[in-house]
Amino acid sequence: MGLPGHRRTSSHKRRRASHFALKRSNLSVCGHCHQPVVPHRVCANCGYYRGRQVIKVKSKLSAKARAKASQAASAAKDKKE
Ligand SMILES: [Zn+2]
Repeated sequence: MGLPGHRRTSSHKRRRASHFALKRSNLSVCGHCHQPVVPHRVCANCGYYRGRQVIKVKSKLSAKARAKASQAASAAKDKKE
């Protein structure tokens, strides 16, 4: 069975670990629904890519329900003002 040939010192370990940090993902905004999306990927919220619908999005809310929800949200905003 393979065994490590030499002891890894704490400094060796820490120097290697200096590259383990995760980079913050760079999100852009969907041109159709204005939700944050991963660049060069189809929007998971509306299924649009480069200004056209590419996939049908399975959602808990139907398109009608979503429209109703947005209307209700805007109505609530109007009430507040
Ligand atoms: Zn979208």
